[in-house]
Amino acid sequence: MTDPLRGGASIGILGGGQLGRMLSVAASRLGFKCHIFEPGAEPPAGQTALCVTTAPYDDREALIAFAKSVDVVTYEFENIPTAALDIIEEIVPIRPGREALRVSQDRLTEKTYLQELGLQVAPFADVTDLASMLQAVSEIGAPSILKTRRFGYDGKGQARLTSPEDAERALADMNGAPAVLEGFVDFSHEVSVIAARSSTGEVACFDPGENVHRNGILHTTTVPARLSASQRTDAVLISAKILNALDYVGVLGVELFVTPSGLIVNEIAPRVHNSGHWTQNGCAIDQFEQHIRAVAGWPLGDGTRHSDVTMENLIGDDMNRVPQIARELNAALHLYGKADVKPGRKMGHVNRITG
Ligand code: AMP
Repeated sequence: MTDPLRGGASIGILGGGQLGRMLSVAASRLGFKCHIFEPGAEPPAGQTALCVTTAPYDDREALIAFAKSVDVVTYEFENIPTAALDIIEEIVPIRPGREALRVSQDRLTEKTYLQELGLQVAPFADVTDLASMLQAVSEIGAPSILKTRRFGYDGKGQARLTSPEDAERALADMNGAPAVLEGFVDFSHEVSVIAARSSTGEVACFDPGENVHRNGILHTTTVPARLSASQRTDAVLISAKILNALDYVGVLGVELFVTPSGLIVNEIAPRVHNSGHWTQNGCAIDQFEQHIRAVAGWPLGDGTRHSDVTMENLIGDDMNRVPQIARELNAALHLYGKADVKPGRKMGHVNRITG
């Protein structure tokens, strides 16, 4: 695919959660059709996309039919099995490309990659067994955090060490999965940059947002973030460096710790990101449209922030507050159409315009 996609073209999305849903809404606003590929039944994105394939990621025939039905494929999460991507890529381009997935699917690969780019990351060491764990603890010390190399999200697959004596307990929490021990970063606050790069190499970043987590899950994102002018510039430069190194096409989330010795990269997500939801009501072009524009080969849009916003995630029983939030002034509700409320489940979010 070299020419920009035109109205009526089809975009395939791997994953049918809320991110896929909001991507498909943005795509349809630009005149595109969306086809969702999702193993689970009744995905949130299935309510807004034209077409859904319900099949596992190892169903070769379903993957081939899906790939043949679309002009480009993108994804809403990074843990797509490599074999599925191999099948799709023979038929249709995948954007963002495979390198971004290779790097971000594994925390050890990701940290090594970022460090080699000259960016600051937390001190880290590879942990595969008790011997390497004890070695890692002797190098990095405590407090520290042991994280599984793959499939961790929303604080899952993590164990904290407050002293070196916690080593064995933390290792047991990994259930034998390869892990990385990370030194605990003494940050003042956390910010993230939602960065975008087009197929012709243009780069644009949304204003950094300040993130607050609760129980390991994002609770709020506030813009503007508390950052000095130089920290703000640095956040953008770090993000642009990663985008260019990966020859990236699409939107990338870059999570940063703010410390007195500079910004430390926590992790990157090769997709639209929960901490970028504020852009839906803070910018003319939000992260979802920006991503669709990039993967469709369009120029990036104007993501300048026109308002101050606080995004609050609505998780589990927070849904009980929806009738009250629906009456608030300057509050935009975004609900994901999930029938079952479960503790810890992201059900929607609200963007409050604060200035
Ligand atoms: P992660 O899944 O890596 O994004 O981690 C989830 C949250 O745990 C982060 O947003 C931080 O609040 C905290 N965290 C993760 N890694 C570190 C670290 N090395 N030092 C301090 N806090 C961390």
